[in-house]
Amino acid sequence: MEKKLNELKTRLEEVSNLNSATAVLGWDQATFMPPAGANSRGRQMATLASLSQEKFTDPAIGKLLDELQPYAEGLPYDSDDAALIRKTRSDYEKAVKVPPAWVAKFSTHSAVSYQAWTEARPANNFKAVEDKLKTTLDLSREYANFFPGYEHIADPLIDGPDPGMKASDIRRVFGELRAQLVPLVKTITEQAMADDSPLRAGYPEDEQLAFGMQVAKDYGFDFNRGRQDKSPHPFMTSFAIDDVRITTRVQEGDLSDALFSTLHETGHALYELGIDPALEGTPLAGGTSSGVHESQSRTWENIIGRSRGFWEHYYPKLQKQFPGQLSKVSLDSFYRAINKVSRSLIRTDADEVTYNLHVMLRFELELELLEGKLEVKDLPEAWHARYQADLGIHAPSDVDGVLQDVHWYGGAIGGEFQGYTLGNIMSALFYDAALKAHPDIPQQTGQGQFGTLHSWLKDNLYQHGSKFTPNELIERVTGGPLRIEPYIHYLKTKYGELYTL
Ligand code: ZN
Repeated sequence: MEKKLNELKTRLEEVSNLNSATAVLGWDQATFMPPAGANSRGRQMATLASLSQEKFTDPAIGKLLDELQPYAEGLPYDSDDAALIRKTRSDYEKAVKVPPAWVAKFSTHSAVSYQAWTEARPANNFKAVEDKLKTTLDLSREYANFFPGYEHIADPLIDGPDPGMKASDIRRVFGELRAQLVPLVKTITEQAMADDSPLRAGYPEDEQLAFGMQVAKDYGFDFNRGRQDKSPHPFMTSFAIDDVRITTRVQEGDLSDALFSTLHETGHALYELGIDPALEGTPLAGGTSSGVHESQSRTWENIIGRSRGFWEHYYPKLQKQFPGQLSKVSLDSFYRAINKVSRSLIRTDADEVTYNLHVMLRFELELELLEGKLEVKDLPEAWHARYQADLGIHAPSDVDGVLQDVHWYGGAIGGEFQGYTLGNIMSALFYDAALKAHPDIPQQTGQGQFGTLHSWLKDNLYQHGSKFTPNELIERVTGGPLRIEPYIHYLKTKYGELYTL
């Protein structure tokens, strides 16, 4: 058995090395590569990706998994080897069900569709991408149908980013959340809006970067095991447990952009950096789902980074760094500015209270498209109608409507958005559990001390990598299923101090 297990690990490590090399190329493409390198880089990444796919779907892996199954069944459920065999089998079975011809077709189509979107968006021309989107929908349905027996056609598409999560469960949870959020947004936006003009007073790039890096260090980001660079769209990528990269972007006219992007990506990075080194080189050496990953970025960006306690500690430091811009702005005004709530058209600019309304309506639209209840040609109008109903606003064009997010134009329809809101819900669920174990976490935050929270998250979430599905993890950590109450409580407590609720 040991020989077979070692053979499996050796093969998986090769796949992991190829994937890491692809990630290095992708990181370079988004940060330092000169524009003319794009074509050759695309070919290099495609070669590595197909090599990785070939090695992972090798029937020898299937055979080893079969032979190791009795060994796995004799182990405790949470042992590393049992989890490795379980997770590898699940990934392997998914990978072999999708024909290479579909993968090639989808990847070619995505590249063409993405290119068309980059031109259609500035031209406000939905018609130019309508046919591409129809093909995307057809291909997304084809993908789902490689997994017959699903309960909802979106389930196989959701299962990739959020394993084990089902459309029916997400729909129910989102329905409960929307019922709470719509009146909350109404109550808040009827009151005087916070003034966030101090955030736009002009902040030199180097100083912004230095401040963000200092907080990332204080959070526990080890810069011997990672680094931060700049890119047009901030992201986190991991090459190894000891080499995790984040990026940010800086606008001198908006203090919050770089800072909160850095805190967000630091949250993703802490998750990857906290994985047990024993899992290195296996499919377990990564965050378990898009939702759990997002729960960590949102914890460090919002629950901690936009809290009053955090700024009681950091605001005097920020004022010292930017005296001309902030010496006359009180902590209270600053705190209100970074937590301003408004009904806006753009998801990525939305505040904590309205953000999930943007996400949930996209999720519902994906389901309706997949179910055949909504046709692609009617999507722009359906988009506007949902914004009107949920947020009470109407975009003047499709640029800030159905053309605003890249997801459907560069990926599938289905599974693209739920992770953001699942992450917000889980962030409060996990933080609530951390507070039960350590009620002094908020006091420590007020002193710029994050070690207790970081260690708790590492012990309870990060170290496990992908050993458990998101639902298993939630059950282990909170003793129950996914629920929205802690998140609603968090929002109402925080915004109840800022507004009259
Ligand atoms: Zn994120």
